[in-house]
Amino acid sequence: MSRAFDVIVLGLGGMGSAAAAHLAARGQRVLGLEQFTAPHDQGSSHGRSRVIRQAYFEDPAYVPLLLRAYELWRELERDSGRELLTITGGLMLGAPDSAVVSGSHRSAKQHGLAHELLDACEIKRRFPQFHPDADTVALYEKNAGVVRPEESVRAHLDLATRRGATLRMEERVESWSASADSARVKTARGEYEAGQLVISAGPWAGEILRELNLPFQVERQVQLWFEPNGGVENFLPGKFPVWIWETTDGAHPYGLPALDGPGGGVKFAIHHGGKDRFCTAATVERNVSDEEIALARAQIASRLPALDGPCLRAVTCLYTTLPDEHFLIDRHPSHPPVLIVSPCSGHGFKFCPVVGEIVADFVEHGKTRRPVSLFRLDRLKV
Ligand SMILES: Cc1cc2nc3c(=O)[nH]c(=O)nc-3n(C[C@H](O)[C@H](O)[C@H](O)COP(=O)(O)OP(=O)(O)OC[C@H]3O[C@@H](n4cnc5c(N)ncnc54)[C@H](O)[C@@H]3O)c2cc1C
Repeated sequence: MSRAFDVIVLGLGGMGSAAAAHLAARGQRVLGLEQFTAPHDQGSSHGRSRVIRQAYFEDPAYVPLLLRAYELWRELERDSGRELLTITGGLMLGAPDSAVVSGSHRSAKQHGLAHELLDACEIKRRFPQFHPDADTVALYEKNAGVVRPEESVRAHLDLATRRGATLRMEERVESWSASADSARVKTARGEYEAGQLVISAGPWAGEILRELNLPFQVERQVQLWFEPNGGVENFLPGKFPVWIWETTDGAHPYGLPALDGPGGGVKFAIHHGGKDRFCTAATVERNVSDEEIALARAQIASRLPALDGPCLRAVTCLYTTLPDEHFLIDRHPSHPPVLIVSPCSGHGFKFCPVVGEIVADFVEHGKTRRPVSLFRLDRLKV
């Protein structure tokens, strides 16, 4: 078997497509293998829009990565000629001591990010679409916005191809193995060898890394698009921000503006919401029930009543979550040529280009100057 490739990227979704583009830009001979035709709607990187923000309530350690990600999103737009990042402003709502508000504030202060704190009256004055109760406050971040997942995957794949990568769609990796300085994969069409293997399999990562018994939990999520009563005007970017609301009932709804204009609907979802949500990519129920739409409406009715119009579209998607809800980016503990890249936990998309850059650093230099200690495998004690 000839060794025609330096690195194989297994899975060409959000992370794998970015990794392939960045690796190819460094002159690596890249083979990308994807079981479907990317972008597709079976994994984690579909649904037209993803929230991007810098005041990161999950942990201030993400902020340097986010600042780099913003630069790389703009670079990707220039290189691909596609519109990928739309700045809309972002509203993080909740009680003053909620994780969403206090955590965002902590990140903003620690990293000197532009932000404003709004009380309930000010929220209603500036964004009358929201009906907060008197105890709700918000952190407003003008640099928050939306990235487009399918377009981003296309942009990274196009760039990877232009930079010489070989990308094979509809070619599922059935097994892999590694020696001290190489890795092999087997598909129905053949076997390939390379110096390194990047496993960016998203919700299939637990399966492909079965021997590690990683504590991944695959979670079914529902994305809904509602037509506002009274028209879409007040929900267009410029008038309506991205938003996340840590509610006292623990529901955690969030949403994005009407990116696609009239007829496109306004996206609404509930983070970690839904019944019977734990599943696998093979067993997930892809249909959305009327009961789930009714649960969403119950949240909308009291908080954003103008949004309570017809439901235009309902799509499921998969989170791949670790117990601490941080990412996993590290070498395989027994096979150093294998890099595990699993940045999801429900908040990874905004990082795609910087993750691609980090993967390229690891493959090329064995290390990265980006702060990634939060994502080490040994914290999981497997
Ligand atoms: C509903 C929802 C809302 C979200 N909202 C946000 C948000 O607002 N902001 C944000 O930043 N993030 C958000 N996220 C998270 C973000 O979308 C994910 O972190 C990101 O999409 C994960 O990308 P991935 O590359 O790991 O997985 P995927 O994009 O699913 O890619 C994995 C790929 O590997 C392929 N694959 C798997 N096994 C094999 C195999 N054996 N052989 C070949 N190919 C294989 C799959 O087909 C797939 O294409 C959200 C996620 C969901 C589901």
